[in-house]
Amino acid sequence: MKARRRPAGRRGAPRPATLIPGDGIGPEVTDAAVRVIAAAGGRIAWDVQIAGKAAFEKVGTAIPDALVASIRRTRVGLKGPLETQIGRVGYRSVNVALRKTFDLYANVRPIKSLPGVRTAFSGVDLIVVRENTEDLYSGIEHQIAPGVVESVKVITARASRRIARFAFDLARREKRRKIVAIHKANIMKLSDGLFLSCAREVAKKHPRTRYGELIVDNACLQLVRRPQDFDVLLLENLYGDIVSDLCAGLVGGLGVVPGANLGTRYAIFEAVHGTAPDIAGKNMANPLAAILSGVMLLRHVGQRRPADRIDRAVTRLLRERRTRTRDLGGTATTSAVADRLIALL
Ligand code: ATP
Repeated sequence: MKARRRPAGRRGAPRPATLIPGDGIGPEVTDAAVRVIAAAGGRIAWDVQIAGKAAFEKVGTAIPDALVASIRRTRVGLKGPLETQIGRVGYRSVNVALRKTFDLYANVRPIKSLPGVRTAFSGVDLIVVRENTEDLYSGIEHQIAPGVVESVKVITARASRRIARFAFDLARREKRRKIVAIHKANIMKLSDGLFLSCAREVAKKHPRTRYGELIVDNACLQLVRRPQDFDVLLLENLYGDIVSDLCAGLVGGLGVVPGANLGTRYAIFEAVHGTAPDIAGKNMANPLAAILSGVMLLRHVGQRRPADRIDRAVTRLLRERRTRTRDLGGTATTSAVADRLIALL
């Protein structure tokens, strides 16, 4: 009888996944995530690939073919932040290019109050769903006359419907009660108007989930007054980027908020924060956002037990208030946080 090969991902066989350490604090925080995942019993075979600045300097392109091939093979990745150069210089954003290449159309960021992390609010538990492929991130910019430039905001019905469907499906799966679409359709009547009409159309097909709308400036005000009233936020790309950071501030900052970029075939997990050049290489960065992104990855590939274990260890670590990085009011290093989590595991 022919021996049947066990598909990767089943019990026993490590699940292949691409690891992009990234720039700035990326290598430090992803290293912590990899160590914690292994200690929790996560069975992942990491394929380490360079991208961004490191790749540009080494092989002349920010997205090497080897990286693309790796993600096509593994279909799942954990990514550190990649530097995006400001202004006219250098290559285009690798983050944006990766999202487009793999059609990672949904960016999901769970924002939850953590035990032992003192902030202005408690009981925050919301999910940001951000459209990830269009809007002002289309990259279409031109100078129409000296001193006059245009940036093109692209909104399509296809992408708007798709992200709205994603948000309603997620709400049903996660037993969430209400979705609020956030917009500025009073000013951008065509683009944001189209986004809203698609969201309304999808909402009609999901009568069990409550649906509301807020203009983005008012949404920011309401979020910093009563964040507990929010459940799922549905946003275009740019508002999603900005509102995510605001929401991170509600629960302890960028050091604790994980994220996922999801498409129909591929998924790349990454913290909300950037490369944090001010603290890079100093063993000071909070690795929890990267570790919790790893937890999302484990759940995505069906490894729930190690994911739950890490979640519990993070709760204990924060409750004991002993080992925490500077952004959370402590003095611990990145590696000390990982070591303590591993001890708790
Ligand atoms: P980029 O251009 O890559 O987005 P940035 O500095 O503009 O970098 P972030 O990297 O998100 O934006 O950092 C914003 C602030 O938050 C910085 O002061 C940074 O030190 C802090 N920060 C970000 N991530 C962390 C983290 N994991 N731990 C501690 N502080 C962090």
